[in-house]
This record gives sequence, C-alpha cells and structure tokens, in this order.
Amino acid sequence: MSGHVKGEKVYRGIAVSAGVCRGKVIVLHRARHAIIRRELELDLVVPEIKRFEHALVRTRQQITEIQRRVADTMSSSEADIFDAHLLMLEDRVLIEEVIKIIREQKANADYAFHTASDRYIAVLEAVEDEYLRERAADLRDLTSRVLDNLLNVKQQLDLRHLNEPCILVGHDLSPSTTAQLDRNFVLGFVTDVGGKTSHTAILARSLDIPAVVGAQNISEELETGDYALLDGYNGTVIVNPTDQTLFEYGQLAKIKASLGEKLREIQGQPAVTLDGKSIHLSANIEDQHDVPAVIAHGAEGVGLFRTEFLFINRENLPTEDEQLKVYREVAAALKPQPVIIRTLDLGGDKFSSHLQIAREMNPFLGWRAIRFCLAQPEVFRAQLRAILRASAEGNVKMMYPMISGLDELNQANAHVEKCKAELRAENIPFDEKMEIGAMIEIPSAALVADALAKKVKFFSIGSNDLIQYTLAADRTNEKVAHLYEPTHPAIIRLIKMTVDAAHANGNWVGVCGEIAGDPVLAPLLLGLGVDELSAAPSAIDTVKYMIRRVKNTEARQLAEFALQCESPSEIFTSCQDLARQTAPSLFENRA
Ligand code: PEP
Ligand code: MG
Repeated sequence: MSGHVKGEKVYRGIAVSAGVCRGKVIVLHRARHAIIRRELELDLVVPEIKRFEHALVRTRQQITEIQRRVADTMSSSEADIFDAHLLMLEDRVLIEEVIKIIREQKANADYAFHTASDRYIAVLEAVEDEYLRERAADLRDLTSRVLDNLLNVKQQLDLRHLNEPCILVGHDLSPSTTAQLDRNFVLGFVTDVGGKTSHTAILARSLDIPAVVGAQNISEELETGDYALLDGYNGTVIVNPTDQTLFEYGQLAKIKASLGEKLREIQGQPAVTLDGKSIHLSANIEDQHDVPAVIAHGAEGVGLFRTEFLFINRENLPTEDEQLKVYREVAAALKPQPVIIRTLDLGGDKFSSHLQIAREMNPFLGWRAIRFCLAQPEVFRAQLRAILRASAEGNVKMMYPMISGLDELNQANAHVEKCKAELRAENIPFDEKMEIGAMIEIPSAALVADALAKKVKFFSIGSNDLIQYTLAADRTNEKVAHLYEPTHPAIIRLIKMTVDAAHANGNWVGVCGEIAGDPVLAPLLLGLGVDELSAAPSAIDTVKYMIRRVKNTEARQLAEFALQCESPSEIFTSCQDLARQTAPSLFENRA
C-alpha cells in the first residue's frame, strides 16, 4: 500500500451506479495511459527499441499531417508549437536515454519513455523561466502522443485482460473504453470528471458495477495498490476503510440482500399499480450480450437498443449482414416482446475509431445521430435495411435519435421507404407494418410534437439529452451537474406536451432516458401519462417495485401538482416524499 494516504479518507463525487465494492485500486494515468513496467526477455530488447522508434516515426507523421491539414488556419504561434514538438521528437538526448533504459533495465518502451520524459518535464518545470516551463507543457503533450502510439492497442487489451479484481480510478473513461471493461475484474470505477447521464455512467449501470464520477482529482491522489471501498449509492470512495466502516457496510449489505429477495419475487410479475393501471417496463441495451440480463430482470422487451456500440471499438464499419445477425439474434431471443432498435447515434461523447469524424467545438450540438446519418446515406441505409430485415424475425420497432423537427423526420422516413422498395424488389421479407418512432430529446421536437406525431407511431423521450439541451447543461460535465435537474418545471412541461401530442394522435409514448430507471421519478412519469419506461436491466426491479406499490390516482395528483410548481426542488421533494412513503425499503442506502 502506498504511504501517502494513511488512515481512512473519504472522497466524494456523484453516485452514478448503485452498489458497493472494495478492493485494490488501479490508477489509469491522466492521459488514459496505464503504464505498467514489464521485464523483457533479452532477445526482446532490440525489437522493443524498434517498436519505440516506430512509435516516434508514427508520431512525427501524425504531427506533420495535423500541421498540413490546419496550415491555412493556423496562427504562427500554433505552428511554432508543432515545430517545437517535432524538434523534441528528434532530441537525441531524450531518445538515447529511453533506449538506455530499455537496454539496461530490460524495460518495456512505454515505461522507459514515460520515465525519461517525466524526468525531463520535472527539470523543465523547476526552472524559473516561463519559456522553459511552457516547453514542459509541450513535452507533456508530446509524451501523451507517443504513448498513444505505443499503447494504442495494448492499453485496451490491458484493460480487457486485467488478471485480478480491482477498482479502476482515472481522470476520465471514454464510453468506448468502458464498453470493453471486463466485468469479472473491474469491481467498480471512479473518475475525476463526468456526469450522471454521460454514456460512461450509463454503461456502468448497464454493466451493473458500482461507479462514482466527478470525484475531482481523485486520480491524482490515489495510487495503484491503495485499498478502497467504493459506495455507488452515496457517491463516496473510502480509502483505507476502518474496521468500523467495514462493519457498517456489512450491515448495509445485509439490508440490500433482503431487499434483493423481495425484488426477485416480483421479477415475473407485471408492472401494475395498486389500482390496476399498467405500464410497459422495458430495458435499454447496448448489444446482444445484454439480452440475458433483460430476461433475468423480467423486462418486457427492449425499449432502447443503442446500436452505436456495434460501430465503435472496431477497425471498420459493420456490414448490413453483420448488423442483421445481431438484430435478428436479439429480436428472436425476446420475441414476442418488442425490441426497439434505435438508429445510429454517433457523435456527442460516442465516437467510432473508424469513421474519422473531425473534432468539433461543441460535439453535442454538432454532427451527431440523425444529422450524421442523413449526411452519410450509405451508412444509414445499410442499417435501415438490416433493421427491416430483422423485423421479419421478431417484434422489431425502430426509432430515430435527435430529431429536431419535421424535415429531418420526413427525410429519414423517405430513406426507409426507399429501403423497403429495394427489399420488395429483391424479394427479401420484412414486416411491412414495422412501427417507427421518433425520440424526443431536443426541446424543438417536444414543442412541435403535434406535427411529428402524425408521421410516427410512437415517441420515446430521451430525457438525458432533453435535459441537457433544455437547461443548457452538458450531461458529461460535473461542474454543471447541479444545474442538470430532471425535475425542472421546464422538463416536466415538455414531457407533458409530448405525451399530450402523442395521445391526441393515437400514439403511445415512452421514456428511455435515465430518469426512467429512477424509482423516485417513476410515479411522476406514470402520472404524466407515459405508457412505457425503459431502463438499464438492473434498474427494472426497483422501478417495478415502486409501481406495484403506488396508486395511479396518487401518481396523477403528483403530476398535477408538479405541473403547477415553479421550482425543481419543490417537484423533487414531492416525488421523494411519495416514493419514501410508498416504498421505504428502497431508500436504506446509508452505511
Ligand atoms: C437520451 O438522450 O435520453 C437517450 C436515451 O439517448 P442517449 O443517452 O443514448 O443519448
Ligand atoms: Mg440521447
């Protein structure tokens, strides 16, 4: 255990995925690099030096390429930075030192490079000279680039092939990295940054591992080898927990185990209120591997299949046939229950490594989701055809993300019609009546929901985005997490408008954002008239527990009250009061 944290120390962040775990910490370094020293066999020393030189060459090519691409728009000071990077890359003293470490210590190149450049950075930072201190920042940047090249594939493998259970601690974890975590070895994770509805947090819930985000600079304070307890109910990380703390958490585990039994008893039961009102409870999934959890938690099908995870972490795009295989497998496993496949939602915080989408200033406001698909019709059409073909095999429905108005919806529907015509001409079967829906996750869509309702069969409210776009609060930014309020009156009113517009047109409406998995908010959504809730499989049980204990009349009163309220906290408090009174055992979270 490292010596810097002595007794028990508590760090606080945002609780994003329930549960408690404890174990050894592995810290992923700030630039996502997990540098682990490996001892090389003698005959691997020369190839390792070659690998290092190759990484330098690749880095040089990348920098020159960036320079070339931005040459016209680059100011001379930016150009100087790249020139400085290139010069540093050629610094023989640094290179020789790295080679010496590889050769004499038989150490792997990433470790050697990291060690040598850290030493340089420390020297530069210690000098009382602004110019040299700036060079330290340059070298840090450059180091990160070289390490990216050295670790690119291997670092992902390291995370996937951990060989002992651990708690990951990092500055940030991208959704694509999180999607690859091996659940058997990652007990839980903590990050410095992030928000409750970032896709990284969503993935933690879908993996059903405890997680805390927004824990400020915890990745700098902890060290690999520290022992910690992670409390995903309350958003705390306790390093070196005392016996008393461990005892208290032992008591909490007993309470949770007895709640778990009660929840398991209702897994096969319907989600119906005490006064007989049913709501459809379905699950959110990222790929076919989530299907057993959907079945185990008794969800009534899939309300959101986030297909973009089929597109990231791979070298090329999945073909129509590859997609078909996955969609068909999910549809067949859950038939006759519905599976709502959402068309590709790349962009925002989810990127494909294959599609070189340029970095944007505001990715959540940029080239994302349906905007990307309408601009890349070949990618879109391959997916539409795969979904349509899968509809012949089960109860498949489809929805479009990020619809902002009628125009986009009409364009997307026109692509579907063309794909249908092609399939008919090719004699390929599909469900002619496959239901198509639109996600309502942009305020403009909620405001024109009456027009959209005429062109679809259902709406699914993407509250994660609807909240961030309505309140202008980035869902991934812990600094504005306090502004990201699901019970803001504006959100409640937009949901009500959407429900009213859907029902007036004979359509149904679901909610598939993270609020659908919060038992505190379930009565409010029910009372607002929502017909379906779709949440992470692990959240289904508690939502159902709440629904089965509440009366629809109480839910409606709550919604009517909320629609009159002027403050988010007033609405939240009334939701919480009803929830605690209805199902007190769901709220025993304190150790
Ligand atoms: C949402 O925005 O609420 C949603 C369900 O979509 P995603 O979280 O994938 O953006
Ligand atoms: Mg969304």
